Amino acid sequence: MVSTNRPSPQGTTAVYGVIGDPVRHSLSPTLHNAAFAAIGIDAVYVAFAVAEGSAPDALRAMRVMDIGGLSVTMPHKTPVAHAVDEASNDVLALDAANTVVRVTGGRLRAESTDGDGCIDALLAAGCDPAGKRCMVIGAGGAGRSVVLALARHGASEIAVVNRHDDRAAAALALAGPLGVRRSVDAVGDAEIIINATPQGMGESDGRLPLDPERLTAGQVVNDLVYHPLETALLSAARGRGLVVVDGLGMLLHQAARQFTLWTGEAAPVDEMRQAVQAELARRSAL
Ligand code: NAP
Repeated sequence: MVSTNRPSPQGTTAVYGVIGDPVRHSLSPTLHNAAFAAIGIDAVYVAFAVAEGSAPDALRAMRVMDIGGLSVTMPHKTPVAHAVDEASNDVLALDAANTVVRVTGGRLRAESTDGDGCIDALLAAGCDPAGKRCMVIGAGGAGRSVVLALARHGASEIAVVNRHDDRAAAALALAGPLGVRRSVDAVGDAEIIINATPQGMGESDGRLPLDPERLTAGQVVNDLVYHPLETALLSAARGRGLVVVDGLGMLLHQAARQFTLWTGEAAPVDEMRQAVQAELARRSAL
């Protein structure tokens, strides 16, 4: 259970946060505060609204105010990748970061946990992408991070579906020899399908990124959209008896990896999941 009698912040309390704009809707404070409480770490995690163009200032503030770690969301993912002291290979490949970690000597290191968070979510659902034909629909920031992680995790093929050629090409470059550009009509050939477009996002958006009539038995369908959790795509796939993985999985596991990078502790994933599910239920009841 998530602790409810957490002491108020003290002078010793460490501060972590997320920078973005907009950021007030972020679920990251819910996830990380639940994790700190569950493990008994004296820290708080808050949302910092940082305007576009101000990422370098936010990193200077992180240094001088001794902020323990930052999550990074739009529009700062690429500027942060350029403003840190060092960056992981994934950050260099993606030209985007979602995490800043303090390392030896007060240096700031950028990391990207999104793609591996998606792999972790698939693994947690009993689906190992190693050796599987995967299709990623959408080649924006999320889609590219997933393509890179799938390539490293040993997918046998990564089919990239995207409207615009430039982003498709960028994703294919990350996939290397495993990458192939496909039409979404080839969805029946994939064993794992990942929607990394916003289609289906929002309570009233019933759009589907693919024709569900083309889904076939045995496929796994992962929708990265998490608002709503049960998208039209997942509902259609579930109705056909397929294994479905909702967008909460990647959200949860990318945060779990951030938590471990900052604290060195294994993340309390169950408590984080309970907290974010409760927060989503609270929001949908408003
Ligand atoms: P992004 O950088 O804006 O990329 C959006 C992608 O979707 C682009 O490839 C775009 O294609 C495609 N797209 C947009 N509208 C489309 C439409 N109507 N038809 C077909 N393709 C369309 O966004 P992102 O950051 O990658 O995020 C994508 C989705 O993933 C969002 O719904 C976001 O909420 C979700 N997400 C979830 C998590 C999680 O933890 N679960 C994490 C990150 C993102 P073009 O290149 O052709 O324009």
